[in-house]
Amino acid sequence: MSDCLFCKIVNRQIPASVVYEDDRVLAFNDINPQAPTHVLVIPKRHVASLDELGVDDDAIVGELVRRAAAIARERGITAGGYRTVFNTNRDAGQTVFHIHLHLIGGRAMHWPPG
Ligand code: AMP
Ligand code: ZN
Repeated sequence: MSDCLFCKIVNRQIPASVVYEDDRVLAFNDINPQAPTHVLVIPKRHVASLDELGVDDDAIVGELVRRAAAIARERGITAGGYRTVFNTNRDAGQTVFHIHLHLIGGRAMHWPPG
């Protein structure tokens, strides 16, 4: 997707603070962090939202979640706890239409979210 911000980050057309990369997954620090750890974990392949996922995407979603857990462990925030969020469409506040798992931690958080 040539006009997708996160595809441009994957293709290195836009810089990002990358914290993890492999053939299928990229993780980078959120540009507007909401907590001491705020990392976005994305598939390199463009998928606009959770609503676009097909049965073939089950593995990549699992990889995103496992990678978020691994980054949390590296950051030492696992015992304290952290939040993982996929925002989908308007009411949830999705602004970038390339799926991304927010990993947010390093401070106490409230529930329910706003
Ligand atoms: P969402 O509102 O769930 O779609 O989240 C989009 C996230 O992308 C927000 O937390 C933004 O701060 C973040 N973001 C937007 N542009 C960039 C960028 N160039 N690099 C890193 N994070 C970004
Ligand atoms: Zn994209």
